[in-house]
Order: sequence, then C-alpha cells, then structure tokens
Amino acid sequence: MAGEPQDDCLFCKIVAGSIPATIVRETETTVAFRDINPQAPTHILVIPKAHYENAAALAAGAPELAADVLRETRAVAEEEKLESYRTVFNTGSGAGQTVWHAHAHVLGGRGLEWPPG
Ligand code: C5P
Repeated sequence: MAGEPQDDCLFCKIVAGSIPATIVRETETTVAFRDINPQAPTHILVIPKAHYENAAALAAGAPELAADVLRETRAVAEEEKLESYRTVFNTGSGAGQTVWHAHAHVLGGRGLEWPPG
C-alpha cells in the first residue's frame, strides 16, 4: 500500500536504521543523508520516511509530504552553505532512477552544466 514500508526497499531500510547511512538531517517525516557515490562535493539525498516509488507517486499520493521533502532540500542547502545547487528527482528508469523510493538529490559545491546528460 502507498506509504507503507517495503521489505525489499533500500531506503526504507535506511529509514529503519537497518542499513547504515551518513544522516545529516532528520524530521518527523523525512531523512537526509549523503549519497554513497557522490557526483559533486555536496551530494545529499532527501527522502520521505514513507514509501512512495518516485516523485510522481509522492506528488499524487501525499502532496504535503512532497512539500516537506522540498523544504528539506532548502534546509540541506543552507546547512551546506550552497549559494547555487541543483535539486533533481529522477523519475522512471529512462531518467536514471535506480532506487524505487522517492528521493531528491541535492547537488552543489561545483559548477553544474545545463542541460544534464
Ligand atoms: O536517482 P537514482 O535512483 O539513480 O539515485 C539513487 C541514488 O542512491 C544514487 O545516487 C546512489 O548512489 C544512491 N545510493 C545511496 N546509498 C545506497 C544506495 C544508493 O546513497 N545504499
């Protein structure tokens, strides 16, 4: 069911604490942790604690939780003192989504080109 923890979901396991992660912020509804394979000097993932398979499912199923995630991307950028940064939600395998639990990438600390590859 939408929002319920999934046994086979890596990020649900990070939320539960059964897989380690370098957590930088946590709220009642979200967790932010450093990406294990950083693509920029700052690369942090912000996830809802509840399981939604991607940003589209999150926006449709729990828009107030999507707002919590977006608010946390800003908080992370502030804590990391990023003047410029990019917030990315890869949605679907064709867009590069590999983990099927909604997550915002917060990337910064270097110049970022546009358009992305
Ligand atoms: O957008 P996408 O689904 O490809 O992003 C998944 C991200 O999760 C990757 O950047 C990957 O490095 C990260 N990851 C992580 N910790 C894990 C597994 C994946 O930070 N244990």
